[in-house]
Amino acid sequence: KRIITIEAVKEAVEAAHAHFREEKGGKNADYIPYLKNVPSDLFGISVCLADGRSVTVGDTDYRFGIESVSKVPTAILAMNQYSAKKVLSQIGADATGLPFNSIMAILLENDHPSTPLVNAGAISACSMIKPTGNAEAKWKAIVDFISGLCGSKVSVLDELYRSESETNFNNRSIAWLLKNYNRIYDDPDMSLDLYTRQCSLGITARQLAVMAATIANCGTNPVTWEEVFHPNLTPHIASLMATVGFYEHTGDWLFNTGLPAKTGVGGGIMAVIPGVMGLAAFAPPLDSAGNSVKAQKALEYISVRLGLNIFSPA
Ligand code: GLU
Repeated sequence: KRIITIEAVKEAVEAAHAHFREEKGGKNADYIPYLKNVPSDLFGISVCLADGRSVTVGDTDYRFGIESVSKVPTAILAMNQYSAKKVLSQIGADATGLPFNSIMAILLENDHPSTPLVNAGAISACSMIKPTGNAEAKWKAIVDFISGLCGSKVSVLDELYRSESETNFNNRSIAWLLKNYNRIYDDPDMSLDLYTRQCSLGITARQLAVMAATIANCGTNPVTWEEVFHPNLTPHIASLMATVGFYEHTGDWLFNTGLPAKTGVGGGIMAVIPGVMGLAAFAPPLDSAGNSVKAQKALEYISVRLGLNIFSPA
């Protein structure tokens, strides 16, 4: 792996923020009422190296909805509690090429949800989390795990949770379709509620970068030195992120950046360069697939400038 200095990271992050600060493309998610009202001009970028040193620019302490980025930690937790193989057989690891909320993700592969990084597979992953049958203990396992990855506590944005719970009709259907195909491993309504709660967690770009760096650092948080998950899971989760992290735009994203990354409709994106660093960017306005316009541009810029493309030999 090439050596990347903290000075080079600082220059790249500051330049990316300056370049795209005035970018006006996209609009806030509006299918979840809370997200529509988050100030559109918020913009933060944070990078944490695998040795724990970090660079942050802009609105990196604003708590936004983690949304689908939460699918990454829950997938890791399920693999950590069972094994990568078990998650592969119960959920899957194939790219769907479909929107995040697609019910087709369940039906495409012999009634298989395909991957824990789209809604169907993520609800299924929540159902797997131990101890099964105990909603509060499962929730504690998820929140403690995410807090461990971030090296600081995360908690639910209550208004976002209310807003999502009142409008998540599509996800309710997905949970019951999973039940129909025996692809949910706990009570469907409880699994859906856990999924909705985890999507409503508030997180800062600074915390997200530490989470990404913990994944890059093979499960050991480089800030707290806590061993959060088994080291052999990093290549598995990075491959899931690379194949489906941007839903139907995943191929274009990977083609342009070579970064395994995961987006959320709250405007956050988390990228992992195994062994090197974690990156996070946040800006609420989204493109048509539900991916933050500014955060994508900023991370693409940083990837090119620092030569982070994982497919590039030099
Ligand atoms: N809570 C959102 C949903 O399930 C998350 C979607 C996303 O971030 O892509 O609809």
